[in-house]
Amino acid sequence: MKILILTAALLAQCTPGAGLDDRPAEAPNIVLIVMDTVRSDHLGCYGYERNTSPRIDAFANSATRYLNSVAASPWTIPSHASMFTGEPPYAHGAHTFEVDKPVNNVNPLARDHVTLAEALREEGYQAGAFVANAGFLALDWQLDQGFDTYHVEFVWSDKLNEHVFSWLNRVDRPFFLFVNYIDAHRPYNTRPRPDLIDPPAVTDDGQLLDRLIGEVLPGERDASSGLVGQVIDQYDTGIANLDENIGELLDRLSRSGLDDDTVIIITSDHGEYFGEHRLVEHSKDVYQEALNVPLLIRSAGQQRARVVDTPVVSYDLPRLIASELTVELEERLAPLFPSVPGEHPIVSENYFTRFPDLFNPRWGHRFQRIRRAVFDWPFKLIQSSDGRSELYALDDDPTEANNLIDAKTKVAKRLAETLDRYLQAQGQPMTEPNRIPIAPDLRKKLEALGYLEP
Ligand SMILES: [Zn+2]
Repeated sequence: MKILILTAALLAQCTPGAGLDDRPAEAPNIVLIVMDTVRSDHLGCYGYERNTSPRIDAFANSATRYLNSVAASPWTIPSHASMFTGEPPYAHGAHTFEVDKPVNNVNPLARDHVTLAEALREEGYQAGAFVANAGFLALDWQLDQGFDTYHVEFVWSDKLNEHVFSWLNRVDRPFFLFVNYIDAHRPYNTRPRPDLIDPPAVTDDGQLLDRLIGEVLPGERDASSGLVGQVIDQYDTGIANLDENIGELLDRLSRSGLDDDTVIIITSDHGEYFGEHRLVEHSKDVYQEALNVPLLIRSAGQQRARVVDTPVVSYDLPRLIASELTVELEERLAPLFPSVPGEHPIVSENYFTRFPDLFNPRWGHRFQRIRRAVFDWPFKLIQSSDGRSELYALDDDPTEANNLIDAKTKVAKRLAETLDRYLQAQGQPMTEPNRIPIAPDLRKKLEALGYLEP
């Protein structure tokens, strides 16, 4: 018994999750909510002036809010694979590759990786996934590993909730529920919200966004502010509609008396650009607009707000979740997910970019490179495979406008060494893509989300 208590004390020290005293006596349920494409600075609880997220803000009042939460990659597959495996993209290999033919340059997550759902299932959890990103969370990409139920459907949050609620009606405890909502992703859920934006945002199936892309992505001029404002209205409307339905899910859990034995995580896989750095949407590069993601964790029964400024990254998630479980469970899960929050460098990686941007005749040339960001607050180094590396001091320069790479050579060198050491410790990276064929059905889904030209 004494040894167990000592071990628990050590674990509590090194993970910024629940404290030893707050540990549940029995395995709690886990609800992981990923709001696809939501950057943290568009939520009220992260300082946004618009009232996009009243329900999430209220949730934050009884949860732990991570101020510095970084996406391991600026797009869906590598970021979700990191959240599920506890590994950076370099190690799990589910990312893009440079290939010469524009059909598919993405790896699925190889079956030999241990996922959080697999580990929890071994511990007696029932695992259900309900995903609306039908393009890059389709079964083809193998992120379903460990889930008993894996429902994929490109629908907004109100419809997805119907499937979630029906599953909650029949699932036994303990359960692990993963929900991916896509309301804030192109084409944005613009169901009118006159309470937020009046007149309401334009509903246009992505036409304004395509205009912005055409204006900005060639990299020759900045976006016109009127157009940016209109697209942001669409995006914020999507967040507001999502917020309402996350509220519905939280209410559903409360009504079922699950608050005291359920850990709830609200986060995102990446953000979105609106013309900053002459970029639009996500993927493409590792600037903060695409990397700053919300992370809110409410421990089972937690009632007070906490704020944590320790930087964390997507691949910390399995260990952060483990630290919310019973001491015994955390001890068994820890060796499977060795990445301990606060004890490793924070790294984000982007390999070239997704088709079709990589092969676009007007802007594909901008993305023919690997970009990796490594942080040592306030400094952030972007190491670029084309030699055009960048260094920023995020405290004075949060928009990354003032490149200090020539002015602060010692800092840049130190960060580059940190990055190299960290990646080398991950073992041999996958260098060849292990591509899956794109079936007609998946092609249609990818087209609907703007990932492939029709
Ligand atoms: Zn995504």
